[in-house]
Amino acid sequence: MDCRRKNGTLRARFRSQAEAEAFAADPANHPAYLGDLAHLCEKCGFWHLSRAEWLGLKPRYFCIKCKNEIKPSENGEMEFYILLSGFAVCKPCSLMVGESSPVVN
Ligand SMILES: [Zn+2]
Ligand SMILES: [Zn+2]
Repeated sequence: MDCRRKNGTLRARFRSQAEAEAFAADPANHPAYLGDLAHLCEKCGFWHLSRAEWLGLKPRYFCIKCKNEIKPSENGEMEFYILLSGFAVCKPCSLMVGESSPVVN
C-alpha cells in the first residue's frame, strides 16, 4: 500500500532510517525536509520524513550558519531566532547575520 500526500502525490519513502536521514540532511532537499524526522511507517513498511510536530514532538531547528541543531536552554529561553524564511540562526551566529551580508539561503 502506497502512502500519498493529501494532494495525491506519492510520499517520499526510504528503505532505511539512514537513507531517510541522509535525504533530510542533504541541502538539495532544504528547506522542505530540513529538520524532518525519519519514522517507520506501519502502513507501507518504508521510512518517511515528517515534521516533528506532525509526530507530536517538538520541532527541531538547525542554524543556517553553523548547521548545528539548536535547542531551547533549560530555563525555557529560546537560544535561537527563526527567520521569516523559516530558517533558524543561533544567538552567536545571529551576531554575524545582517552585519556583513544579508541572509541568503
Ligand atoms: Zn507509509
Ligand atoms: Zn549557529
